[in-house]
Amino acid sequence: MSDQCVFCGIVAGNVPSVKVAEDDTTYAFMDINPGSDGHLLVVPKRHSRDLLDIQADDLAAVTLTAQRVAKAAVKELGADGVNLLNCCGADAWQTVFHFHLHVIPRYVDKTKDRLVLPWQPGIRGDMDAIAALGNRLSAAVN
Ligand code: 5GP
Ligand code: ZN
Repeated sequence: MSDQCVFCGIVAGNVPSVKVAEDDTTYAFMDINPGSDGHLLVVPKRHSRDLLDIQADDLAAVTLTAQRVAKAAVKELGADGVNLLNCCGADAWQTVFHFHLHVIPRYVDKTKDRLVLPWQPGIRGDMDAIAALGNRLSAAVN
């Protein structure tokens, strides 16, 4: 736990939140700046900074909780789809440095849904460049 971390404060109950689900290792709560109706966050109770820092067991547990609450969003809120989003690093839009998955219900009804796709779909990349990057990643992954 970090004294400076707002999500550690939420997990500890020192910062108010609208709780949706909780188990031994994860905590799910509503986002206060929702991109759609029902937008929530799932965090590990144990502090980790981001995707590169989180331990595998916490990452697995957070992902499973995200699936549980996504199913609830579809069943209870009538969501037409769900996006999972993680921002890792300030340059990737991370603003709170305690790992979290956004669970964002999506709706055909745009009065409930303010999201837009952050890249332009359908613009084909250079296949040689794509293959070269893929080959570098393939050699680097462990
Ligand atoms: P990030 O930009 O790091 O991926 O997402 C951080 C999210 O945390 C934002 O969507 C923001 O609205 C949410 N957030 C920041 N502070 C609080 C807070 O005190 N309570 C809640 N419930 N959400 C917060
Ligand atoms: Zn924290």
